[in-house]
Amino acid sequence: MPELPEVEAAMETLRQWAVGRRIATVTLLHPALQRRVRPAQLKALRGAQISRVERRGKHQLLHLDDGRIVHVHFRMNGDWAHGAQDEELPRFARAVLEFDDDTRLILVDSRMLGTLDVHPAGTDLDLGLGPDAADDGWTAAQLGTALARKRGPIKPVLLDQRVVAGLGNIYAAESLWRARISPFTAASALTTGQVAALRKAIGAVIVRASGSRYTDDDTVSLDVYDREGKPCRRCRATLERVVQAGRSTFFCPSCQPHGGVAARRPGKKAVKKVAKRAAKKAVNRAAKKVVKRTVKKARRRYT
Ligand SMILES: [Zn+2]
Repeated sequence: MPELPEVEAAMETLRQWAVGRRIATVTLLHPALQRRVRPAQLKALRGAQISRVERRGKHQLLHLDDGRIVHVHFRMNGDWAHGAQDEELPRFARAVLEFDDDTRLILVDSRMLGTLDVHPAGTDLDLGLGPDAADDGWTAAQLGTALARKRGPIKPVLLDQRVVAGLGNIYAAESLWRARISPFTAASALTTGQVAALRKAIGAVIVRASGSRYTDDDTVSLDVYDREGKPCRRCRATLERVVQAGRSTFFCPSCQPHGGVAARRPGKKAVKKVAKRAAKKAVNRAAKKVVKRTVKKARRRYT
């Protein structure tokens, strides 16, 4: 899922391939996109020049010289491809922006949950975003104030773009792990020290991930996300996964202790559950051998 670093990488493509170019035609290839922009609106883009591009959180804004804005959001998937107009379109091409110099940009999106909108000139675009996660001027004090107003555990709160813009499920989990904060801690109950650690962790995670195009293609090594059943890189305890507000949360039960207590020893039941889940995954990969090893490992660790 593209989060701030991946969207920033996409912005780099836009800076190189869109800024300064004049639109010849824009073609929407998917019905979901066609429903969003009227044909007349689309046709009226001809001749407009893209004067600058802007990232706000995970939103991409292509500002046209006459004040109109082409607004793109990848959501679950998506990227830009670029090239000459006579080349074959890539698979999952959803929208094509052709320029008057024979180059083009293609919105590629396999899941087709992304959006493209055209806003008229003078639109005061309120995207409901809080401070940007990559903004150096964003302070721990500001984060603390925002968190104090929120109800519920910190992990889902971090996905709220009004609290901080740009984080998604992956980097929220990574940031909490780095700051040693339990995803279950009430957002409003974080101590000043924890808020400071979290602000710092978010910055570090964003910097570490920058330059990556996709979080799932191994360009970034993740510490906790999608590592259920694997040993924590910091304390070697077995990482766990739970579902919070409908999304997976990955965490280390030992160095992200709930309630601020020192490394809680997981109960027998919890150990068994983790081992079982990891084992199930392994079976799916048709590796019976791994099952035995995982269960054995969990037993060895906690007995
Ligand atoms: Zn740990």
